[in-house]
Amino acid sequence: MTVAVLAVQGAFIEHEKMLQNLGVETIELRQKEDLKQPFDGLVLPGGESTVQGKLLKELGMFDSLKEKIEEGMPVLATCAGLILLAEQINNDDKRYFQTLPVTVKRNAYGRQLGSFHFEGAMQGSLQELGTYPMEFIRAPYIAEVTPEVEVLAQVDQKIVAVRYQNQLAMAFHPELSGDDRIHQSFIKMMDN
Ligand code: GLN
Repeated sequence: MTVAVLAVQGAFIEHEKMLQNLGVETIELRQKEDLKQPFDGLVLPGGESTVQGKLLKELGMFDSLKEKIEEGMPVLATCAGLILLAEQINNDDKRYFQTLPVTVKRNAYGRQLGSFHFEGAMQGSLQELGTYPMEFIRAPYIAEVTPEVEVLAQVDQKIVAVRYQNQLAMAFHPELSGDDRIHQSFIKMMDN
């Protein structure tokens, strides 16, 4: 099983390490050529969504990745990655893949709460994980979801993790938590 990690900017190495520790092979997507290798899943890491979105288009990777997501390839998206997937962004004019029917708000917690840690309860199909250590770094939250979207976690009544079909997306950084259970759930999605 091989996971491709978008590696144009942001916190991609931490995802690679976590997946490798779980016995999964990873490849890095840095340029169009890299898309020629076969892979079974995709990670869109945290970082800066505007930079990642621009690079994806400039490097010619945007259309093929959008197609793969639409065709059902399992995706794990964190923070900026969630913004790349979102259908709507309520405080930015830019749009990217638009494969996830949610509305996000970027940098939603303001300056004072730029970064914070929260031990939050997972719910829905990830309820069995119980409490999970959530690291938020200039994070978005999910302001709206359509009924088909499954809510997987909320903090202060704001949605911070969802699943929709093949897309697992969260506002926090599971790759920085030292707790690999969300990555394990993603691996299960690839198995099915
Ligand atoms: N603030 C970033 C953005 O809007 C996301 C932050 C992150 O990925 N940690 O893209």
